[in-house]
Amino acid sequence: MSTKARIAVVGGGISGLATAYYLKRESLQRSLEIEISVIDRSNRLGGVVKSERVKGFLLESGPENFVSFKPQTLELITELGLKDQVIGSNDEKRRVFVLNQGRLQPLPEGMGFLVPVDFKSFWSSKLISCPGKIRALLEPLVPPSKGDLSVYSFLQRRIGKELTDKVAEPLVSAIYGGDVRRLSISSALPDTHRMEQRFGSLWRGMRQHSQRGTSSSGPFFLTMRKGMEQLIEGLVNQLSDRSVYRNIQDLRLHCESGAYRLRGVDLDRVFDVVILSTPAFASAEIIEGVSQEAAHVLSQINYASTTIVYLAYNREEFSHPLDGFGFVTPEKEARVLDACTWVSSKFEERCPPDTVLLRCAIHDGRHERNFTSDDDTRDKVHEELQRVMQISCSPVFSSVVHGRRTMPQFTLEHAGRMKKITRLLHLHPGLFLASAFTGGVGIPDCIGTGRRTAKLALDFLHPTP
Ligand SMILES: Cc1cc2nc3c(=O)[nH]c(=O)nc-3n(C[C@H](O)[C@H](O)[C@H](O)COP(=O)(O)OP(=O)(O)OC[C@H]3O[C@@H](n4cnc5c(N)ncnc54)[C@H](O)[C@@H]3O)c2cc1C
Repeated sequence: MSTKARIAVVGGGISGLATAYYLKRESLQRSLEIEISVIDRSNRLGGVVKSERVKGFLLESGPENFVSFKPQTLELITELGLKDQVIGSNDEKRRVFVLNQGRLQPLPEGMGFLVPVDFKSFWSSKLISCPGKIRALLEPLVPPSKGDLSVYSFLQRRIGKELTDKVAEPLVSAIYGGDVRRLSISSALPDTHRMEQRFGSLWRGMRQHSQRGTSSSGPFFLTMRKGMEQLIEGLVNQLSDRSVYRNIQDLRLHCESGAYRLRGVDLDRVFDVVILSTPAFASAEIIEGVSQEAAHVLSQINYASTTIVYLAYNREEFSHPLDGFGFVTPEKEARVLDACTWVSSKFEERCPPDTVLLRCAIHDGRHERNFTSDDDTRDKVHEELQRVMQISCSPVFSSVVHGRRTMPQFTLEHAGRMKKITRLLHLHPGLFLASAFTGGVGIPDCIGTGRRTAKLALDFLHPTP
């Protein structure tokens, strides 16, 4: 190819920006001439990732941190020269509580993600009854599952109903903002499913993992000093202004003699490769003119909406010790909120020193809540915190942010849909998808998806013999 290959990345969230970054890095390494354009409907890049400092409070309306045991994020941050901006969680306070009969109780000790690994510590838990503990400890004897199951059925089968209801269900639904009875184990928790299939039990898998010394040292959660949006800024700085098209509405894709034309308000350009890093429902609209069938399947992928409520209190008046990272609520107890992070305990520098900061997440994946206004939402969340944490003071600061259709739901139909979409897109060489719904919702997963897709796109343009 004598002229530069033109690549469009549609969607400038973390998935799209990571894709663009790896396209640039890999093309330089391979000495390939390409021209990358990032196109977004919004004026602001970053998508779900958004950080704001308001009156001394650092507010994250999307992700607040990333896990350290998946290396992709820290590798990328290091390459961007931002490693000195990373801060770790205060792991001496790394305890999570769960709401049980209206009271907060610590999650059992000795658990490796969702399964007991240290039997002695696990046995000391006051949250789980004796029969519940015995049932959970029989996990190594339960044969591996066959086929795909809902996350709930899978876990209930492996660790029993009590540990699933009280611990696993609220933890998983806090991550996905969804209903574990509808989420698929192979799509939503593929590593857990693979571990069970490979080692015959989660306990055996976790043991192998720790014996191989693969568990990382250092803080479990990491974040950026000025908020997660610092990562977005680092990625945007890698792009030239001329290659970013913001505020492009009504984007539609058309096939044009072996290439693709992207047309929207104020944009009409032809590309050799198009990578859609938009949510499934947006990708459906964009590609409708190219493949109605793929658009139809994409439009069936559901998204949950989330409301994030920040509440700050005067530290002196706040009677709860905040001796942990926060709490999650099992389905039965989730009256108002689904999870609460005790931000000022988990990370430093997130709020003025004379205050404490709490971040509450309300998802619509398990329950619909009928709040009449933001004030109503804030008041109900505050009342719930008063009840659960036995506090009597009033908030000195609050913020309510809604995220509509932000979290893809990896339901039991997801794997089948993705297979179908992949088959349909094979008919359109040079068209790729790289988004949270294709390779996992976590920040490290989105970065990994971007990296893999960049490689696929360059291999497509310049196949290696
Ligand atoms: C409330 C919340 C908390 C979270 N917390 C964490 C956490 O703590 N840790 C973690 O690892 N993960 C977390 N996640 C998950 C993670 O943040 C997301 O999965 C990830 O940011 C999604 O990135 P994305 O680029 O795939 O999608 P998005 O961020 O949705 O980006 C899509 C981009 O496409 C653009 N777009 C949409 N439609 C069009 C169109 N028609 N034309 C052009 N552009 C379009 C949008 O403007 C946007 O910029 C959280 C998610 C949410 C919602």
